[in-house]
Amino acid sequence: MDKISQDLQNAVTAAVPGRAGFDYLVVGAGFAGSVLAERLASTGKRILVLDKRPHIGGNAYDRYDDHGVLVHPYGPHIFHTNSEDIFDYLSRFTAWRPYQHRVLASVDGQLLPMPINLDTINKLYGLHLTAFEVEKFFESVAEKKQEIRTSEDVVVSKVGRELYNKFFRGYTRKQWDLDPSELDASVTARVPIRTNRDDRYFADKFQAIPLHGYTRMFERMLDHPNIKIMTGTDYREIVDLVPWTHMIYTGPVDAFFGCKHGKLPYRSLRFEHVNVPQEQFQPVGTVNYPNDYGYTRISEFKHITGQKHASTSIVYEYPCAEGDPYYPVPQPQNAGLYRLYEAEAEATPNVSFVGRLATYKYYNMDQVVGQALATFKRLQQQEAERAGAGAPSGPAGAM
Ligand code: FAD
Ligand code: UDP
Repeated sequence: MDKISQDLQNAVTAAVPGRAGFDYLVVGAGFAGSVLAERLASTGKRILVLDKRPHIGGNAYDRYDDHGVLVHPYGPHIFHTNSEDIFDYLSRFTAWRPYQHRVLASVDGQLLPMPINLDTINKLYGLHLTAFEVEKFFESVAEKKQEIRTSEDVVVSKVGRELYNKFFRGYTRKQWDLDPSELDASVTARVPIRTNRDDRYFADKFQAIPLHGYTRMFERMLDHPNIKIMTGTDYREIVDLVPWTHMIYTGPVDAFFGCKHGKLPYRSLRFEHVNVPQEQFQPVGTVNYPNDYGYTRISEFKHITGQKHASTSIVYEYPCAEGDPYYPVPQPQNAGLYRLYEAEAEATPNVSFVGRLATYKYYNMDQVVGQALATFKRLQQQEAERAGAGAPSGPAGAM
């Protein structure tokens, strides 16, 4: 018996003494898979969680690097949400460190607040405008648009072409290898334009980092006697070997169907991690480089985690076409292609598709948690209907 089969045998035996199989096979141990595993296990279901990576946490995984600095191997992850329910749910598994992310953009030889705000404009042009005056300034340079359709429209209709060129065009072209005029409005609309001095990257009600890191939070979520975890395992290696009733799939949706309708584009990144023998590298968590270099941004983890350390660790993000899929690419033709896969997904019994890759949505962590919790409720509902017992009640029905 090879190693995988032996591990499997052990997992199955340990999970279900006297009975073969799992109620749920969860593919992917990121937010989507881990939330569902936790919720379903709490109702008594037996769960096998698989991830092809050698760790849990998906893209939010964090770890101490060789220098003892806590880093996010897949790029900086800052939790933010307006949903009290989602924040409360995650708070069952972690305490938090309040953290407001700040970003500077390197433009015309200066580091300027991003999102664009009153100080960005005053520093860029050496002015002393008030909030009222900057609003008038934006109005004077904004281009009138009949319809806001693309990522270019969003920005030029608010702040005109010069600011668009300085802060958005180059960054977007690097990040997506597309001109903003070829991308849905939703992409640059993620970044607001402000007339006040608020220099926080996010404006959400809850903004915080798990106090002991994301991985610790995931460990606590998955720490349940009904949950078995196998990392370093592609689900295709074992899907036919272990009995299961329902699958939660959180990988890329096109891969699940063998790319039968064609490959869905996902944008990738190459992360270059560097440790620098000085206490601080840059003034804020992230500095964006819209116009220079091959990378889009540099993030310094100690700002985000609050860790004290004599050295500091930073990450450069180089966008690329090949590599792990990180971003769905929001364009009308891709939405059209996704709909073909979505129809396949809906017609696939006993598999739920959840998360950023499986539903091809440019979701933040909180949105994925929300989607997973909604999926859990739906599964509960379906089970109750099957049992002819009406709506679920008691702790099993609660979030
Ligand atoms: P993932 O975390 O991608 O998990 C899916 C898992 O499925 C992966 O671990 C993968 O290995 C596994 N898998 C795939 N195929 C298979 C297979 N065949 N067999 C077994 N396992 C498989 N969000 C925020 O809210 N704030 C941020 O600051 C933020 N920063 C980000 C920065 C970067 C650079 C990136 C790329 C994303 C960022 N996000 C941020 C988004 C966040 O990472 C996602 O919303 C979230 O991690 C998605 O969770 P998920 O479970 O859907 O997917
Ligand atoms: N963006 C930009 N300039 C910036 C920051 C963002 O043009 O300085 C655009 C770019 O297209 C980017 C999008 O806004 O992909 C969303 O930015 P966000 O910081 O939300 O990206 P993420 O953190 O998801 O990579």
